[in-house]
Amino acid sequence: MADRGFDLEDRLETLEETDLKRALSPVDRVAERGYFGEPSGGDLPVLETAEALVFASNNYLGLTDDQRVQDAARQAAATVGTGAGASRLVTGDTMVHRDLERLLAEVKGTERALAFSSGYAANVGTIAALEPDVVFSDELNHASIIDGCRLADAETAVYDHCDAASLRSQLEERARTATRDGRDPADESWLIVTDSVFSMDGTVAPLEAICDAAESFGAWVMVDEAHATGLYANGGGVVQAEGLEDRVQIQMGTLSKALASQGGYVAGSAALIECLVNDARSFVFSTGLAPPAAAAASEALHVARHSGAREQLWENVAHLRDGLESMGFEVLGESQILPVLVGDRTDTIDLAEGIRERDVVAPAIRPPTVPEGTSRIRVAPMATHDEDDIITCLEAFSAAGEEVGLL
Ligand code: PMP
Repeated sequence: MADRGFDLEDRLETLEETDLKRALSPVDRVAERGYFGEPSGGDLPVLETAEALVFASNNYLGLTDDQRVQDAARQAAATVGTGAGASRLVTGDTMVHRDLERLLAEVKGTERALAFSSGYAANVGTIAALEPDVVFSDELNHASIIDGCRLADAETAVYDHCDAASLRSQLEERARTATRDGRDPADESWLIVTDSVFSMDGTVAPLEAICDAAESFGAWVMVDEAHATGLYANGGGVVQAEGLEDRVQIQMGTLSKALASQGGYVAGSAALIECLVNDARSFVFSTGLAPPAAAAASEALHVARHSGAREQLWENVAHLRDGLESMGFEVLGESQILPVLVGDRTDTIDLAEGIRERDVVAPAIRPPTVPEGTSRIRVAPMATHDEDDIITCLEAFSAAGEEVGLL
């Protein structure tokens, strides 16, 4: 009989041959500044034995190790349970979810917010539920936005990265073709979607100019604040920093980065949230966010708003950026993510290995994740790194950079 199955070995071989095969690498983090060491037991392969300083985490405020956040998760597990047990629309809705959503709406300056089981689910579910006719999307938007556009079966117009003029010309072009084809552009629903902070480039979207363009054409704006939530004004994102709450219809984000938990959210009008409760399939047909995750995110958001962790993070970012630049490295972006541009992919791997030998971990980012010739090391400081940690990181870059011949 013909084999109608799948040649998985062949697929894996191709990945191996093209140097694109990825593997999981379990680590056991043992201290709040991101040290990791030998896994403490079990069957996990031991991939790292020496302790190292991690400058590679999205746990930007270091709150996964915060006692208050851990206590909130523990307490929710003890009182509400470890899992929601069902979709929120069935029996999975708890006061822990409601508290989180109330707090998110307050921080984001919206009528309401809705928690999803991941940021990925929030993006895919929201874009698909809106069923936009056309989505205008930054060329470097996250995969979950791209997948949401696919699922929505929307026509997608991709504009140049962080380029409001390119967006405007795409909007004009689409208005022209609609009129030419005898359609009234006013009958179509248009959605502009952008990350606020881009994770591989550290760039920040020109949100005000994007809102200006959107308003000229009557389009809605959706902003993915995954890498910004908790880090900007009052514990919000770039939308809050720029005071654009009334001009951005959909604010989305994750609970899994600065908020030290798991899950995603959408914040917006009451009508938007009611529609998502009914139509976002990744919400309706998925078990509610685990209560300990919701409680941990609430507490982390509270800490992000009211402690000095944000200020400490931005101090560390400035120190590290200044140090790297004064050594002669080119550091991209304008956010807490510091991509150190190397260019050549082999040099980048050598530099990553060089800093690793000096007990500093930051990943080499290579094609296809970034364009050829723009390989880089993505350095992500945390609020919990202290002065000595930053100096260790800088010394590692200096020594490894000289060894590789980059300085
Ligand atoms: N959007 C962006 C910009 C992201 O970086 C990520 C996570 N890498 C997501 C969405 C998805 O969030 P989550 O990890 O919570 O699924």
